[in-house]
Amino acid sequence: MKILILGGTTEARQLAERLVALGHDVVTSLAGRTQDPILPKGKLRMGPFGGIPGLSAYLRAAGIDQLVDATHPFAGQISINAVAAAQANGVPLVRVMRPAWEPAPGQQWLIVGSAREAADALPHYAKVLLTTGHAGLDIFLERQECQFFIRVIEAPEMPLPRHAELIVSRPPYLFADEIALMRRHGITHLVSKNSGGTQAAAKLEAARQLDVRVVMIERPIYGPAHEVDSVEAAVAALHDGST
Ligand code: NAP
Repeated sequence: MKILILGGTTEARQLAERLVALGHDVVTSLAGRTQDPILPKGKLRMGPFGGIPGLSAYLRAAGIDQLVDATHPFAGQISINAVAAAQANGVPLVRVMRPAWEPAPGQQWLIVGSAREAADALPHYAKVLLTTGHAGLDIFLERQECQFFIRVIEAPEMPLPRHAELIVSRPPYLFADEIALMRRHGITHLVSKNSGGTQAAAKLEAARQLDVRVVMIERPIYGPAHEVDSVEAAVAALHDGST
């Protein structure tokens, strides 16, 4: 079977490895934003498709039998495009969506729908560990009386104002380090997207133990697909023909 995996995540790499081992013809697509990405097994294509028409044209030209959206839960546009292009071309779509994080028993998160709502929810003079990536940074930085510690994997190109400090580091993040980081900066609020997964989850337990308020941005909701919550379930779905 010829399978196109929309990738850029650990799950996408693991899935490519499993499907190649099972003898499938697998192409992984990466957006091409990250310098030195870890490359998946199988074939690779890089860069944007050119919206829904571009992805549709690719599905037809490459003779794709099965599309798998294994992008990050917050990679909104490509996931929307995948639904439309799959439907337009009669190609079945599996979406791999890792389970969302949940508050620990007794812990309360402030759950919001967007970066704008998260920024508006911060009280005056909050000391914020901001872990939402590059998109929407400008929205948070409008809150000039707050202090931001912005954790990113790659430094943004924009210059940062005086009320922001950059922490460039890569997951996985360990619980002891998260505690030390929050203590060192006197963090009062943690802002996160509900990405799920294990690599960045320690910040949530650290926040709980230090009474740091969590502002959690909910995931977008995408259109119809055969949705699974793990690589194993994706392999099973592709093999039992339930897609
Ligand atoms: P996005 O907003 O959905 O993507 C914007 C545009 O980039 C898409 O419309 C598409 O361009 C292109 N694109 C995105 N993913 C692609 C892929 N796998 N292959 C080819 N083109 C792709 O997504 P994003 O948030 O910028 O994320 C980009 C990539 O980084 C994704 O592959 C995602 O899995 C990975 N990632 C994202 C996050 C996050 O927090 N958002 C975190 C970790 C990894 P065209 O419409 O022109 O085709």
